[in-house]
Amino acid sequence: MYEQLMLMLKRYYSLQSALSLFYFDMDTNAAEGSIQRSAEVTNQLSAMALELLKSDSLKETLQLAKQEPLDATQKRMIAIVEKQLKQLEAIPNALYLENEALCTKAQWAWEDAKTKDDYDLFKPYLKQIIEKSKQMAQLKREPGQSLYDVLLDDYEEGMDEKSYDDFFELIKKELVPVIKKVNARKKPRPHFMDERYDVDKQKQFNHELASYEGFDFKRGMMKETEHPYTTNLHKDDVRLTNHYYEDNFTSALFSTIHEAGHGIYEQNIADAFTMSPAVHISSGMHESQSRFMENCIGRSEAFWKPLYPRLQSYFEAQLKDVSLDEFIDAINLSECSCIRTEADELTYPLHILIRYELEKQMINGDVDIEKLPSMWNAMYKQYLGVDVPSCREGILQDVHWSGGSFGYFPTYALGSAIACQLYAYLKKTEPLEVWLEEEDLSKLCAWLKENVQSFGCLKTTNEMLREVTGEPFNPRYYIDYLKEKAAKMYKIQDI
Ligand code: ZN
Repeated sequence: MYEQLMLMLKRYYSLQSALSLFYFDMDTNAAEGSIQRSAEVTNQLSAMALELLKSDSLKETLQLAKQEPLDATQKRMIAIVEKQLKQLEAIPNALYLENEALCTKAQWAWEDAKTKDDYDLFKPYLKQIIEKSKQMAQLKREPGQSLYDVLLDDYEEGMDEKSYDDFFELIKKELVPVIKKVNARKKPRPHFMDERYDVDKQKQFNHELASYEGFDFKRGMMKETEHPYTTNLHKDDVRLTNHYYEDNFTSALFSTIHEAGHGIYEQNIADAFTMSPAVHISSGMHESQSRFMENCIGRSEAFWKPLYPRLQSYFEAQLKDVSLDEFIDAINLSECSCIRTEADELTYPLHILIRYELEKQMINGDVDIEKLPSMWNAMYKQYLGVDVPSCREGILQDVHWSGGSFGYFPTYALGSAIACQLYAYLKKTEPLEVWLEEEDLSKLCAWLKENVQSFGCLKTTNEMLREVTGEPFNPRYYIDYLKEKAAKMYKIQDI
């Protein structure tokens, strides 16, 4: 019966693959006139996938499979499906569809509000989305859980308010004073960062860069979208996107390293786990793999030592007089700003902390929707010392809330912290710098595959960290990494 169950689930994951392909195509290739009818097709496919998962025959097969002698992997697979089903069953179909429809309208309203810099246009939708999210969390809630706990668990199994509170308290206590010191020694952005870089050449180099990092283009591709992201149909068809700016070449550079980090994670899942309940679903873990590559590896001197001359050869006019040291310095500059997606490594977790504190109040409490922009602005002043000039650069900057994705933001900071814990362990136990300087990332990729990436979500984040590094999640590594880097870059002794 277990085999029978897996076969039924294969059909579910095949429909999910078809949906991913449609979404990706609508984003990158499809003609404008096709979108509306294709959206009808995706709605039907989505409903079919849901029906299949909630069908009586699947539930019966699952119950029978549970009575068979199962090994640990099979038990975990079944537990993942059961949890997913329980959550789906908790939400009546009508409410689920109402919420979907609301989010679709809210996305349009948010885009319009952001363009016009007018919070009032988004406000009524945000109010309804908060109410719907609370209503759904209430239905899924287990004894002892807060409403926000339910949403946090949706994105990172096992994480709750208590663990995030401890994590963000530490970030606040340790990093706010460091950011103040760094800000007092602010360095100017060097001229070469803002020069014009031919977009076609950027594309060529970034393709080479993703490949160098370990992304397999025989089983994947890189296209262009407004905002870079990664998706996959299965482990042998992984798709990255990028966005190129002529006057900001490092944007595409680090998007490539980041998205290829996600992509490698997808390509490296074991054959038995792709298109199964064990697919990578933990947002924090996914983000840990992209940020590990983007920050720990991609901003290090050892990584660029062999690669920088190649970058220089692509952009001779702009970079021939810029030394490796100057380049490394420039890609590690820290500056307090209003925009999360442009934030550097050091200030980034503070952007997340602000969203976490606000979400907690929105979901658990009764926040005054009128006051949200001023609460947002006050926190930016308090933690980052910046004045937010507009709602477009403030509360309206991110897409997440218009899609009802409360609980997602914290996984961005969590991912960075997991990355640093793995990085500290790897540096201690393997000759990482030698690997990087030897211009060969295959040893690093093999290590990640063997220790982290092949398992999918068969292991929880804490199980994986305990098995690999010998201890559960410990944010201290993240704090120490950021402090050490700031001390070195800005020559601060008493950090
Ligand atoms: Zn990411």
